[in-house]
Amino acid sequence: MTAVTCRLRRDVANQNLTFRATFPERNAAHLGAWSLQLPTWRPGRYELGNFAQYIMSVEGFNSDGSRQALAKSSLHTWIVPAGVRDVEWVFHADILNAGSTCVEADLYYVNPVNCFMYDLDRQDLPYEIVLEDLRLDPETEGGWALATALPWEVRDGSPAMRARDVQHLMDSPWIASPKLWRDSYREQDVDVHVWIHDTLPSDPTRFMADHAAFTRSQLAYFGSFPTDEYHFLYLFPDRDVRHGVEHEDSTVIALGPAERVRSEEGYMEILGIASHELYHAWNVKRIRPAEWTPYDFTGACPSDLGYIAEGVTTYMGDLFLFESGIVDLKGWCDLMAKLLERHLNNPGRLNLSVAQSSYDTWLDGYRVGVPGRKGSIYVEGAVLAFLCDTRIMERTGGQASLSTAMRLLWERYGKPRTGLTADMYWDVLAEVAGERLDDLRRDHAEGTADTWPPLVHAFATQGLALSKGDDDAGLTRVTIAPASA
Ligand SMILES: [Zn+2]
Repeated sequence: MTAVTCRLRRDVANQNLTFRATFPERNAAHLGAWSLQLPTWRPGRYELGNFAQYIMSVEGFNSDGSRQALAKSSLHTWIVPAGVRDVEWVFHADILNAGSTCVEADLYYVNPVNCFMYDLDRQDLPYEIVLEDLRLDPETEGGWALATALPWEVRDGSPAMRARDVQHLMDSPWIASPKLWRDSYREQDVDVHVWIHDTLPSDPTRFMADHAAFTRSQLAYFGSFPTDEYHFLYLFPDRDVRHGVEHEDSTVIALGPAERVRSEEGYMEILGIASHELYHAWNVKRIRPAEWTPYDFTGACPSDLGYIAEGVTTYMGDLFLFESGIVDLKGWCDLMAKLLERHLNNPGRLNLSVAQSSYDTWLDGYRVGVPGRKGSIYVEGAVLAFLCDTRIMERTGGQASLSTAMRLLWERYGKPRTGLTADMYWDVLAEVAGERLDDLRRDHAEGTADTWPPLVHAFATQGLALSKGDDDAGLTRVTIAPASA
């Protein structure tokens, strides 16, 4: 046997998932007790998730079939005695967001990085995942269907999925549900599947057409897609949630409640997240900071480059809504105005640089934290991306842009999966611009200089006038409008 076989069973009443894993026999190089590891964090959220807090029990099976509880050697590592190859653990699965794992009466949703354990010494082993108690019947009304980018087949009546190795497994979620809608479209040679659990948007035809539009635009700029198949996995439950998480060949996007999903505002919100997440298929899943290449799930992996991973993606996600005609120029200006107001009203951007704030996401990057201490890789990073984009366009007379640089980064570092460093990024931007952008790197990536003067200039290069004023609450409000002739 050359794969880890993992059989899963649900306990819906208690919202528990039981995993029974059989690991291949260890060879002479790996004798003695071994370490069973649970990830400490998940890609897309650069802070510790401490998933072991949801582990109810971990037991090994001796050769005579008797059970023995396994001891820990660290918070997220269990010691497995020599000769023990079968391990069973129980995971409590009651959280529903785009990065979690949740078992309910009509939902079987797993993000493997929350709950799958792996042999620390043998991360190249493939996984076979059998959903033992799941019977699929997607053609029948109310029958269960399965949505995932993992290859799978039905074996002995149950779905059996296969992952190449630990990196692939941890980045491949699935959703099974009796309330799963599906449709698909094809752009260039990419098959894109859209799956929706629970609430349907009010106009599914428009929903699909808009997805095809931003997919087409992004593909045109990058020239090629990393895989020949991609899956949008939507969770639209009738409860309050807003969240998106990128994966290798798919994304999970959660939004609710139902009335929000069906509203025009909610619709545009979904498209904004969807365009952002698809852009991640290139930027962060392949064009990836060196600190995260490959992912080390055993502990924190701080990186300065969140302004590329999330900043460039946030800026580009919105820009492609405009490029593909989903929003008009005024719509894009409104999105930028919202972004700039978040930027200008956060004094933390003048205390820690976006690079420093990126490093520190592992401390409190997803919480408000100490007022005035830090910036956001999403907001400050997107502002920086806009400054880089307009600078490159200005210097090249519109012949090149940040998209030109991202395509080069994809071809040079993303395709071969070479971990990205800050120098690699800024060198490619310089190559495309025909001159170095060291002032932007020094002042706005690694420094905390005020962005207002360069922002006014950047909008002017696009024929747009940027102005600001204070509202009654003393917050800065901005206006972006075509510059008068
Ligand atoms: Zn993102």
